[in-house]
Parts: sequence; C-alpha cells; structure tokens
Amino acid sequence: MGEIKKEKIVIVGAGFGGIKAGLLLSNDPNFDVTIINDKDTFRYYPRLYHTATGGNSKETSILLTSIFENHDINIVIDKVSKIDRKNKVFKTESGKDINYDKAIIALGVVTNYFGIDGLQEFSYGIKSKEEAEKLKSHLHQTLITDGSPDRHYVVIGAGPTGIELSGQLAFYLKDLLKNHGIKNKKVKIDLIEAAPRVLPTLSEQTSIAVTNRLKSIGINVMTNKAVQSENIDSLMVSGKPIKSHTVVWTAGVTNNPFFKENNFKLNEKGKVVVDRYLQAEQDIFVIGDNAATQYSGMAQTALQNAVLVSNNLIRLASGKSIVMDVPKMPVSVIPAGKKWAAVIWGKIKLYGWLGWVLREAADFIAFHDLQPWWKAGAQWTTEFLKDDQCPICDKK
Ligand SMILES: Cc1cc2nc3c(=O)[nH]c(=O)nc-3n(C[C@H](O)[C@H](O)[C@H](O)COP(=O)(O)OP(=O)(O)OC[C@H]3O[C@@H](n4cnc5c(N)ncnc54)[C@H](O)[C@@H]3O)c2cc1C
Repeated sequence: MGEIKKEKIVIVGAGFGGIKAGLLLSNDPNFDVTIINDKDTFRYYPRLYHTATGGNSKETSILLTSIFENHDINIVIDKVSKIDRKNKVFKTESGKDINYDKAIIALGVVTNYFGIDGLQEFSYGIKSKEEAEKLKSHLHQTLITDGSPDRHYVVIGAGPTGIELSGQLAFYLKDLLKNHGIKNKKVKIDLIEAAPRVLPTLSEQTSIAVTNRLKSIGINVMTNKAVQSENIDSLMVSGKPIKSHTVVWTAGVTNNPFFKENNFKLNEKGKVVVDRYLQAEQDIFVIGDNAATQYSGMAQTALQNAVLVSNNLIRLASGKSIVMDVPKMPVSVIPAGKKWAAVIWGKIKLYGWLGWVLREAADFIAFHDLQPWWKAGAQWTTEFLKDDQCPICDKK
C-alpha cells in the first residue's frame, strides 16, 4: 500500500496562536507541519513587565525546541518576508522557499510611535525580553554611575501594560534605592494617558478602582494628556516639558507590516479581514492579533482562534464539516503592583489580593496551554528567580 500524501501545513509565527496550532496539528498523521519564527524562543508577553523589574528572563522566554519536544514538526528560524500565492510559497529573508498547501499566519503586532518626534530614539519599551532587560539595566545604571535616581520616571499609556509596569515599578524602585544605599531621595512615577481615564476600553468602575489603587501606591496618574515629543532630557506633554531620562512607551501597537506589504485585505485599523472560519483567502488562515475579530489583541483569543482553525483542518481531513468561530470575551486580569490585580470576568469584577491570586493561576494555565503540566510548573516557578543584572543588587 502506498503512503498517504500528507497535507503541508505551514504556520508562520510561533507566538500564542502559532504554537497552539503547531501542538494540535503536528502529531496528526494527515499533516506535514512546519512552523517558521524569526527567533528560537516563544515570548510570554504577560510577564515582561516583571522581567523589566528584577525578574529572570527565563519567565518570559521558552525555547521552541522544548515546547515541541516529542512533536513531529519542522522548526524553521527565519523571518518570512513574502507570500507567493500562485505557487503557494512563503519566502524568507535568508532566501528559503517554503511550500504550503494550507497556511496559518499569526505574526503578532509591532510597536507604533504614531510618528511622535524622538520617541523611537529615546524611550524604552517592554515588548521583548531585550527591551525589558535594557530598561532594567538603565534603572540600575543611573544609580551606579550617577549615584542618584532619575527624578521622574514616566510610563506612557494606561492600558494593561502601562498599569502593570508602573504598579510594579513603584515597589521595585523602593528596593533599588534601599539596595544602593540612597536615602532621602524621592522619585516620582507619572502614568500618562491620552484618554479621559485609565483602561479606557474597560468599564468606568474598573477604571476608578485601578486609579485609586495606583494613587495609593504613589503613582501620579495624568489623563487627557497628549505626548508631543521627546528629546534626550525631557518629554513634552500637552505643552509642558517633564524632565526625565526614563520614559517607557506602552501606548501603541499596529498590525505586522507583512500584511500591508503583501496586499492582504485590511480593515480600517489595519487588521486582516477574515471570514467566520478565520480564512483571509483561499487556504490562508489569519489568527490572533493579526485578524480583524471582535476580541483580537488578547492571548486567549489567539489560543481560541488556533484551536478553531486546527480542529477545522483536522475535521476537513477526515471528511467532516467545519465549524464557525464564535468570539468569546476573554478574561482580563491586570496586576497593579505587589499582590493586587483587577479581574474582569464577564459580569464578575474583582479587585485586590484575590485578583492577584487569579492572575498567578492564569499564568500557570497559560503555560500549561503550551506545555505539559510539569514543564508549566517549572516555568511558573521562574517568577521567583530574581535577576537584577546589577553588581550591587545581585549581592543582596
Ligand atoms: C507587554 C504585553 C503584555 C501583554 N499581556 C497580556 C495579558 O496579560 N493577557 C492577554 O491576554 N494578552 C496580553 N498581551 C497580548 C498578547 O500577548 C497577544 O494578544 C498575543 O501574544 C497574540 O498572539 P499571536 O499568536 O497573535 O502573536 P504573538 O504572540 O505576538 O506571536 C507572533 C510571533 O511571530 C513572530 N514573527 C513576527 N514577524 C515575523 C516574521 N515576519 N517572520 C517570522 N516570524 C515572525 C514573532 O517574533 C512572534 O514569535 C500582552 C501583550 C504585550 C505586548
């Protein structure tokens, strides 16, 4: 008997969506699965704020070879630059041609500075392990070389990322000043938001609870403020300069440029238009942050999209009919400093210590979504490994 011809599935992007699809499809005998990613690790975004404030980078970075251990999958580390639809080929930056029968694309989003002068050059970010470590190193360096902290620390954007970071920074900076023996110096953390309230996409009640929490830990919350420019010494906000050498930009992302460059049909926000099966074009599925779906932009949505598309491909291969996507509202869990988080789970809203416990549980569940429980457990405990990368703090 001849071997059955396997269908070539190519997954582009090994983030939440791509990895989940790879795990579900790779051990199915009907498929020959390849995953292409521009780096050899998976990036766990939800804890990058912690890596930036003394956490170990192991908590936010997992090797793809470890995730796909015991899975029959080809892992290609390369950047995809083009799709040739006619010949069904992805072209990579290093010159490889990778054929597909069906493609799943999940490339995530990129930082958007909205053309604001100086931001790209002078601000810090926390969208990658490298950015988080650069910020952490800067926080320590100012204390080591200048022997004094920056007076103003500025976080721009009061969405979940800005809140997580500024909340944790309030506690971390206190520890740093103590470790470096700096007394009687006060630092100020400004959280700047262009909208009239923090977390503008969530309810007003949540916004008030989180604002009160941030104020109680000493954060200066500034809403209705427009960032206009940044230079080496200061940030211009609504016509007034704030002197700072530590400005962190968390306020903007935009869709991966791959889609515009390759003429995909985009909606007014630049996301890829998909049908109810998450198909953008014949045999090309687009999922996660890239797709114009109701709850795009959350890890849970990327995971749900991957499950839907993978199960549909498995159903098609066995002659069954496929099912439509029914968007599910993700649970929002937003930490704001030590042992406090806001949880919005449908109509349930929780604030405080219990929220923080749920956030810890959510991290474990997310790790377990991509790894067996023993690896997920080991990954989860890396949050207790400190790594300041500072000769003074590392001795404490
Ligand atoms: C700081 C931060 C904190 C967050 N916190 C939360 C949270 O607490 N809860 C939550 O639900 N969501 C959170 N999110 C959002 C969540 O991380 C995203 O919704 C999720 O990662 C989307 O998954 P994805 O698979 O679409 O893309 P991603 O996970 O971004 O994966 C995309 C992958 O594609 C790779 N790639 C990009 N371009 C190319 C290319 N041309 N060729 C090859 N590979 C490429 C990338 O390197 C990456 O590995 C957070 C995001 C950030 C930035």
